[in-house]
Amino acid sequence: MHRRVFLQNTLILASTALLKTEWLWANSNPVFELPALPYPYEALEPHFDTQTMQIHHSKHHGTYVKNLNEAIAGTKFEKMSLEDILANLTEKDTKVRNNAGGHYNHSLFWKILTPKQNSTQPTGKLAEAINQQFGNFEKFKEAFSEKAKSLFGSGWTWLAYEKKRGFFLENTPNQDNLLMKKIYKTPVKIIFGLDVWEHAYYLKYQNRRADYIQAFWNVINWDEVSKNYEQALQSK
Ligand code: MN
Repeated sequence: MHRRVFLQNTLILASTALLKTEWLWANSNPVFELPALPYPYEALEPHFDTQTMQIHHSKHHGTYVKNLNEAIAGTKFEKMSLEDILANLTEKDTKVRNNAGGHYNHSLFWKILTPKQNSTQPTGKLAEAINQQFGNFEKFKEAFSEKAKSLFGSGWTWLAYEKKRGFFLENTPNQDNLLMKKIYKTPVKIIFGLDVWEHAYYLKYQNRRADYIQAFWNVINWDEVSKNYEQALQSK
């Protein structure tokens, strides 16, 4: 064998090996990971019980993450951020839709909960804006709670914000959210949301969704919600 041909063959073999390694690496390395809870499982007692939090985070959310990684492997979604996946998926992308939504919604949900409320209601700019649009905090609380009670089946209740409309309340089914632009056709920001799936409350509250919604107000992290509002104001 000529030296040049030998070198060429070696190069081809080496690059094939590299490609294979890269392929294996890409497929065995999960793109998305289950984020750690920012507090222990028992931290939200007695409002949200330990066992529910444990199963909800490690099993339900964990499964959305696992299924999301499976659903995007080898597709155009593989290299996108979670926000871009949500913005670009269509009604045909059922598995991506359910699991990207599930991952986003739960990641947001854990962050807007806290065992140590600095305040039992919003303060600052957020409070002003809520008062202006809903009258006062009690009226807002009632409107949000009614919206959540009215959701049929499984889904989420959102406080969303749009430059033109200001705040609005919306329910979405399953693991959908309003960042799914090709489905909901509206450029909105999510300020906070409530998981209204039975898996979020059945162990402690059984069929008493209203009691679960009532408990939610005791564990909202208003500092975090305010941050989401500030970001929404600053965005285009
Ligand atoms: Mn859930």
